[in-house]
Amino acid sequence: MFKKILIANRGEIALRVVRAAREMGIASVAVHSTADADAMHVRMADESICIGPASGTLSYLSVPAIISACEISGAEAIHPGYGFLSENANFVQALQDHGITFIGPTAEHIRIMGDKITAKDTMLNLGVPCVPGSEGGVPTIEDAERIGGEIGYPVIVKATAGGGGRGMKLAKTARDMDAAFHQARSEAKAAFGNDEVYIEKYLTTPRHIEVQVFGDGKGGAVHLGERDCSLQRRHQKVFEEAPGPAITPEMRARIGKTCADAVARIDYAGAGTIEFLYENGEFYFIEMNTRLQVEHPVTEAIFGVDLVREQIRVAAGLPMSFVQDELQINGHAIEVRINAEKLPNFAPSPGRITQYHAPGGLGVRMDSALYDGYSIPPYYDSLIGKLIVHGRDREEAMARLRRSLGELIVDGVDTTIPLHVALCEDPDVQSGNYTIHWLEKWLETHL
Ligand code: ADP
Repeated sequence: MFKKILIANRGEIALRVVRAAREMGIASVAVHSTADADAMHVRMADESICIGPASGTLSYLSVPAIISACEISGAEAIHPGYGFLSENANFVQALQDHGITFIGPTAEHIRIMGDKITAKDTMLNLGVPCVPGSEGGVPTIEDAERIGGEIGYPVIVKATAGGGGRGMKLAKTARDMDAAFHQARSEAKAAFGNDEVYIEKYLTTPRHIEVQVFGDGKGGAVHLGERDCSLQRRHQKVFEEAPGPAITPEMRARIGKTCADAVARIDYAGAGTIEFLYENGEFYFIEMNTRLQVEHPVTEAIFGVDLVREQIRVAAGLPMSFVQDELQINGHAIEVRINAEKLPNFAPSPGRITQYHAPGGLGVRMDSALYDGYSIPPYYDSLIGKLIVHGRDREEAMARLRRSLGELIVDGVDTTIPLHVALCEDPDVQSGNYTIHWLEKWLETHL
C-alpha cells in the first residue's frame, strides 16, 4: 500500500480523499492555490504545498506544478477528485512518464470515454444500448439536416468533447437545425477547442439513470446499482438518489450486469459511471465518466462501501474488497447539492461565512469544506457542500432530508438551501415522480 498520496483538488472532495487516506494509514499531501491557503483541505491534510496563483489554470490545472509537488513531497500516487485534471488523459500519461501512480483508470480509457462519439461506438460494440443518432461526427449543415430528417425531430446536437452541459443544442423541428448546429459547434469550439458534433434523438420524458461500476483493471468488475439524477437545471444535477425510484430489482440486475461486463471486457480500473437516459422501460447510453462522481455518497450509503478507499486499493494493485454477490442494497439515500448561489438566477455568491452549522443525527452525512469565518473564493465552482441522508426506505430518507435541511445553517452568503427546502414540499419530489425536464418547468413557476 502507498505510504503517501497527493490530492490534486480542493474543497469537499479533497477533504473526502484526506479522510479515506487517514483511515487507511496513508499520509496525505494537499495542494492549493494562493487563494486557498486557509482552506479546510489544507488544514486537514498531513502536508500542504502551494502550487500557484488563484486562477485554476495556473494551479489546480497546472500539470508541471502538481508533478513538482508530488516529487518534492515524495507522494507515490495522485488522487484527482472530480473536475480539474480527473479526466485529462495527457495528465495521466505525464504521471506515468514520471513514475507516479494515477488513482483512476488508464489514459487510454479516459481518452476513449472523453470523446463521446468514440465512447458511444465502443459501448455499442460492448453490447450497451445507446440513444439512436448519427453514426459518428456530423461535419456539415447539409449532413445535419439529412440526419435530422432520418432520425426524426426533435433531435439534440451534442459536442463530442462536451461536458458540464455545454455544447448541447436542441432542434425541435427542421427549422431549428441551422441555429442548433452552428451554436453547438461554436460553443464546443470555445469551451473545448474541438467543434466536432454529433446528433441524437431528443428524448422527451426520460430519467437520468447512471450505473456505478468498479473494475480491478484485470478483467474483474462489479456494479453498484444506479443513481437517479433527473432533477437537473441546465443539464446540471441538483438532487440525486439511490436506488432509482423507477427502477425494479430485475431492471437493475440486467443493466448492471451489462455495464459490469462491458467494463470488465476492457480491463477498466477503478470507479466509473455509465450514464443513461431511461424512458419507457429502455436504457439509452449517453456517456461514461471515468472518475469518482460528486454524487458517489448515495451509492456508498446504500451499499455500505467506501469508494475512495476502493479506488486507492485498486490503484495500489490490491484486489477489490467485495464481489458482486456481497453488494446488497440497504435502504435509500438522497443527496442535495448546496451551492453558494443566489436564487432565483443562481448567480454565484462567494464571500465570508459568518456562521456554519452542519446537521447531524442518524443517517445524516455532510460533506463540506466550510467552517465559521471561511471565505469562499470567487475563482472556483459554487458547490460548497453535499448533504446526504440515508433511511430504511425512501419515505424515511425524505423525512430525514427535510429534518436535516432544517438544522443546516450557512450564513453570510446566499445558498441553494431554500430551493431544496421547497423541493422537499413538492408532491412529485415526495413521490419520486419526475423526468429530466421536471425541475426546469418547476423553476419557471416556483422561484
Ligand atoms: P454532459 O457531459 O455535458 O453532462 P451528457 O451527455 O451527460 O452531457 O448530458 C447531460 C444531460 O443532458 C442529460 O442528463 C440529459 O438531461 C440531457 N440530454 C443529453 N442527451 C439527451 C438526449 N438525447 N435527449 C434528451 N436529453 C438529453
